[in-house]
Amino acid sequence: MHVPGAHAGTAAAEQKKRDTGVGCRKYRGRPGKDRTGRLRHQSSEDYHKQPGKESKTTQTFSRRDSIVDRGAQECMDKNILVYIQRKGERVEPVSLELLGKAEKLSKETGFRVYAACFGETAEKTVGLLSGYPVEKLFVYEGKEACLDVNMVADVAADLCRRIKPDIVLIGATRHGRNLAPCIAARLRTGLTADCTELHIDREGALVQVRPAFEEKKLAYIQTCTRPQMATVRPGVMEIPKRNLDGISKPVVEKIETIQGGLTQKGYEILKQEPVRRVNTVNITEEKLLVVAGEGITEREDIEVLECFAGSMGGTIACSRKLVERGWFTVERQVGLSGNVSNAELMITVGVSGSVQFQAGIHKVKHLIAINTDPDAPVMALADEGILLDLHLFIQRLRKGLEMKPIDRYQVQA
Ligand SMILES: Cc1cc2nc3c(=O)[nH]c(=O)nc-3n(C[C@H](O)[C@H](O)[C@H](O)COP(=O)(O)OP(=O)(O)OC[C@H]3O[C@@H](n4cnc5c(N)ncnc54)[C@H](O)[C@@H]3O)c2cc1C
Repeated sequence: MHVPGAHAGTAAAEQKKRDTGVGCRKYRGRPGKDRTGRLRHQSSEDYHKQPGKESKTTQTFSRRDSIVDRGAQECMDKNILVYIQRKGERVEPVSLELLGKAEKLSKETGFRVYAACFGETAEKTVGLLSGYPVEKLFVYEGKEACLDVNMVADVAADLCRRIKPDIVLIGATRHGRNLAPCIAARLRTGLTADCTELHIDREGALVQVRPAFEEKKLAYIQTCTRPQMATVRPGVMEIPKRNLDGISKPVVEKIETIQGGLTQKGYEILKQEPVRRVNTVNITEEKLLVVAGEGITEREDIEVLECFAGSMGGTIACSRKLVERGWFTVERQVGLSGNVSNAELMITVGVSGSVQFQAGIHKVKHLIAINTDPDAPVMALADEGILLDLHLFIQRLRKGLEMKPIDRYQVQA
């Protein structure tokens, strides 16, 4: 079992397991007070206390509680909470992917699917989510929740203490990777980062699957504390079909007050303006990508490839080696620590196709690889592997681009 950031068998790993609850099967939270008698953040056991009920009747999670044995009413009270991240006027696609996954998990568990969105009006958010599988939507309209990850975490953690989700799902975007640990720390629960698959085991617990050891192994992780929190890699799950019958709208509950207030930052919002982004690119949405790799040694060759991609209506992307070389920023990087491509056509030039790179190309429809090494992993993956010195290819391209513009490559939508 893989515990992110820890090595199995070491004292540090054991301590980490105890601290986070991740990877531990027996541990179920700690008493509510520390050695000095101060109240700590809610532990897992506190988390499942129902307001107004004596501790004797508190429903505490037990792995022996088969989901089948639990009463239907208990399941009706349980829920999966999906954090909805906004992207300008739209919803970040990974949030919709998570709604699709939550719906599948809810079919296995009977749990309800709830969503939470902060920093936007309820009307706008409902409009964006209607037709997707969400039963209830919690909205915090305070604009400050857009600005500071700690404030978002305050609101989210307070909501979790109130509605007690069994599972909390967050997209592993930059914002999500930042936010999720802040919420987990407030709730004193475990967090599995960067999952690629989620399912429910026979006992009703969430199995969180993520690549480990440089993507060579898959780790199956379970969290014994509650809620079970996971961030999920964008682009690996399906966006559910939207039901546009106009009826399927989530019930909205506005979050008005936060217990304990928000983390104070000592600033106030005077005015808000949308940021105008310059030269930004989202390669996950590009239909045609020419991907440059370490095999390219001359900067001018990049310009030729850029021109080639542009002439076909596409854009240039790269492997991590060229980001490390400082030629590109990470927004153009394909792969595990970069972006997942959804291209109809990808042409790699001087890319070996490492396992990390492969994590970004599994959705590509058609792959053409240019490489001098027939044993490069990318050649086995490609629909067409071309054994060719890239300098020759670029030389011909240069001539071709000078002679006449290349016909625009028609990509099927
Ligand atoms: C945690 C982690 C995350 C990572 N994330 C990513 C990621 O998101 N994306 C990513 O790309 N990498 C990532 N990496 C790095 C990854 O391991 C590889 O180092 C990287 O993908 C290699 O890039 P490359 O294929 O361009 O270079 P190389 O592996 O060096 O391959 C260069 C290729 O060019 C070919 N070549 C050389 N000369 C020519 C020529 N004249 N004509 C034609 N072909 C030629 C060679 O045969 C070779 O196959 C990550 C690594 C780690 C540890």
